[in-house]
This record gives sequence, C-alpha cells and structure tokens, in this order.
Amino acid sequence: MPHVITSLCLRDGGCKDVCPVEAIVPGKPASEWPWYYIDPDTCIDCGACVAECPFEAIFPDSEVPAAHVAKEGQRLSRPEGTAVYDGTDHNKQPVHLDHTVVLKAGETVDLKPDIAVNAKFFQEGPGHSAK
Ligand code: SF4
Repeated sequence: MPHVITSLCLRDGGCKDVCPVEAIVPGKPASEWPWYYIDPDTCIDCGACVAECPFEAIFPDSEVPAAHVAKEGQRLSRPEGTAVYDGTDHNKQPVHLDHTVVLKAGETVDLKPDIAVNAKFFQEGPGHSAK
C-alpha cells in the first residue's frame, strides 16, 4: 500500500528530500505533470513525506479521501483549473502553475482519481519520470 501524492500538490518538493528511498520525483514536463509523484514499487510507507508536505497532499493510497474537506486557500492542480498559481518551493525557488482550482473552505472534493494519475505517470516512460 504505497503513499500517493494528490492534486493538492503545488510542487513544494520537501517530500522528495525526506524520502529515505528516493521514491518521489517531480513531474516533467511540469506543464503536463504538475505534481510530484511517488513510485509505488519503491515506496516503503514510512510516512515521512506526509509530515513534510505543507499542502497536506499526501495519503496512504487506501486513505485517499473521496470527500476531502478543503481548508481556506487550498487549491487543486488540475488541467481544468483556470487560476494561475505563483509560489515558492521549500528551497525558495519559484513555482508557477497555469492550471489550478481555488477551493472554498468547507468545499468537498474527490481526490481518489489522483491515484490513477500517479500510476499513469510511472507507466508513461522515463521521459516523464526523469529526475
Ligand atoms: S511514505 Fe516514505 S518511502 Fe513512501 S514516498 Fe513517502 S517518504 Fe518515501
């Protein structure tokens, strides 16, 4: 049961640095794969990445919520999003995302489809999973 990064991910990247088995890779190209992704064959379910994520985007795959209750200011990084996000990652480097959805506090969203997106990332080949 690996962990999964959901579309709440806004590319902070701190998770990648704490993972003891280097299971986490940034999606590339970011325009097509805007999150970080966890290799399900490598993840040992230690949970270190969960505590590191400022966006609370990471879950054990069996606990990815179908009805996540959004907090004020949370966003989804999804293709249908029309809101531009400009922030910084944990190394203070700029992060720019063209397609995010700004959630209202208390709004519920289904994050389960993000499990398949993570799996697809690792099926698409080394061009997308390059570190
Ligand atoms: S749960 Fe542990 S091993 Fe799995 S991706 Fe997170 S930090 Fe890496």
